[in-house]
Amino acid sequence: MSTESEVKHWHVTYNNIHNLIRKNTPKIATEFSPDLLVAIGGGGFFPARVMRTFLREITTNKTLQIQAIGLSLYEPVDGVTEDKIGEQVIRTQWLGADAGKMLLGKRVLIVDEVDDTRKTLSYALTELRKDVETELLNYPEVDRDALRASTKFGIFVVHNKNKPKLAELPEGTLYYSGEEVDDVWLDYPWESTNIEEHDKFAALDVQNAAAVATKTVDVRV
Ligand code: 5GP
Repeated sequence: MSTESEVKHWHVTYNNIHNLIRKNTPKIATEFSPDLLVAIGGGGFFPARVMRTFLREITTNKTLQIQAIGLSLYEPVDGVTEDKIGEQVIRTQWLGADAGKMLLGKRVLIVDEVDDTRKTLSYALTELRKDVETELLNYPEVDRDALRASTKFGIFVVHNKNKPKLAELPEGTLYYSGEEVDDVWLDYPWESTNIEEHDKFAALDVQNAAAVATKTVDVRV
């Protein structure tokens, strides 16, 4: 069994994230054209805020609303025993009582920093769709299909780990990732208390990866 020290880490900088979002937003604006962002906290907060800046620039100068939900899979939260950490998605924050009203008829882009096992994204989508279904009960049955169809969900993650996923996304969900990465542990800048040191580690990670790549080429020659 691997221990924490054996897990390969990769440090990501604020600039890396900003540039991945800059590169990917035009496609998202054209294909999905979100009119509401739902950030999964805490990792989705910074990416959602940056994406709003680029969406505003690309589209009609409109500042999109960012709603926040809090989900936890890895971090200990009150009342959750240690054996459940990593298994079960826990809601730590959700939209208000008018969640369904807020979502119905919108093109909702869910934003998170990383798609690892996919459990969190799957949970978020399932639960947001339940809110939409609850809201639909307030409408005549004859109108529901059209209203449901006009409510679209998309996903943007800064990083998607290339690994077998443990949960599925509902069919038809538009999915965007800034970058596909190996199954390593990503260290994000907002988790660091010393950003200069974090950026140094990030530069070292890039150097080391380049050295390994050069060695691989030498071996092949
Ligand atoms: P998933 O449900 O896809 O397994 O995990 C999603 C959540 O787990 C992310 O929102 C994030 O909070 C956490 N997570 C998964 N992989 C990583 C990682 O490599 N680095 C960090 N910092 N958090 C991660």
